[in-house]
Amino acid sequence: MGSDFITLGNENIPKGVNMTINIELPKLYNTPTNLPVHVIRGKKSGPCVFVSAAVHGDELNGIEIIRRLRKLTILKKLKGTLILVPIVNVYGTMTLSRYMPDRRDLNRSFPGSNRGSLASRVANIFFNEVVSICDYGIDLHTASIHKSNLPQIRTNIKDEFTYKLAKSFEAPVVLHSELRDGSLRQTAQEQGIPILLYEAGEALRFDETCIRIGVKGIINVLRELDMLPIIKRKAKKLPIVTRSSQWIRAGESGVLRTIKALGDIVKKDELIAFVDEPFGYESFEIKSIFDGIIIGKSEIPLVQEGDAIFHIAKFKNLEIAETKIEYFNEEIIEHSEFNELNDEEIIE
Ligand SMILES: [Zn+2]
Repeated sequence: MGSDFITLGNENIPKGVNMTINIELPKLYNTPTNLPVHVIRGKKSGPCVFVSAAVHGDELNGIEIIRRLRKLTILKKLKGTLILVPIVNVYGTMTLSRYMPDRRDLNRSFPGSNRGSLASRVANIFFNEVVSICDYGIDLHTASIHKSNLPQIRTNIKDEFTYKLAKSFEAPVVLHSELRDGSLRQTAQEQGIPILLYEAGEALRFDETCIRIGVKGIINVLRELDMLPIIKRKAKKLPIVTRSSQWIRAGESGVLRTIKALGDIVKKDELIAFVDEPFGYESFEIKSIFDGIIIGKSEIPLVQEGDAIFHIAKFKNLEIAETKIEYFNEEIIEHSEFNELNDEEIIE
C-alpha cells in the first residue's frame, strides 16, 4: 500500500502517472496477444484497487463501465492506485464467447499455473500481475447468455468490511454468495483481497441503467475507501440485502409468458409466468416459492422442462423492499436513453 513504484508487466510505475501497459499473454496461434491494463496512480498514497471486466468474454457491460470511468475528471483527485482491466478474457471477447479457446471457463481456472491449460496460464498471469498487487477488487459481470440480471453486488457479507463496501456501491441488491471453486473471487479472498462482484444486465448487450449504476458504484466504493473525496449527500441509497436466492424452473416445456419483470417484488405463491402448450389450450402456472424480489430472468420465450426462468432473492419485509427498489425504477425511467454520465451526475 502506498509504495513509490508498482511493477506491472516489466514497467515500474511511479506515483502521479497515468498509463496503459500491455501484458504479454499466450499467442493466439502466431498472433501476439496482450492484456491491456490501464493504471491511474494518484500523487498521494492510498489503497490499490483493480476493476476488471469480461472475465467471461461475452459479458460486455463492464467494458463500457470502465471506458466511462476512465474519462471522469474526478479521478485527478485519486489517492492510491486504480488498475483498470476492461477485457480479461481477450480471446473469448474476440469470438463473443463466455469461454476460453480451450472451452474452459476462465472464472473457474484461478489461481492457475504457468504450466497448466491455456485458461490456467491466463488466470495465472492476470492474478500474479494485477490481482495480487491490489488490496481490493471489483469484478464486473452480466448474466450468462439469454438471461438478464437486476444490478446486484455478490460478495461475502459475513466479512464486516466487505459488507460495508458492498453496501456503499449502492446497487439495488446485495446478495451474500458462497465462493465458487477456482473463481477469481475465491482465490483473491483466500489471499486476503476482498472482491465485489457486480452482476448486471445480459450478455452481448449494453444496458444503460446497469452501466450508470456500475460507474457510480465504483466511484462510491473509492470514496468509501477514502481514495476519492467524501461528499455530503441527502441520503444514501440502501440496498436490499439478502442471504439466499433460488432459480425457479419450468415444470413443463412450451411457450413462456412472463407476468413479472426484473426488480418486481413477489409474494410466496404469486403467479409469475405461464408456460403455454404450443399446440394445445393448456397453460401451466409458475409461482414464486417465497417472498422476495426478482433478480434474474430468462430472456428466451421458449422453454424446456427444467429450464431456469426466474431468479428470486429471498426477502421477508416486502414493504421495505418496495421502497428500496423505487429509486432503481426511477433511474430506469430517467435514463432510458443511451447517454454518457458526466462528472456532475457522479457528484450529484
Ligand atoms: Zn460472468
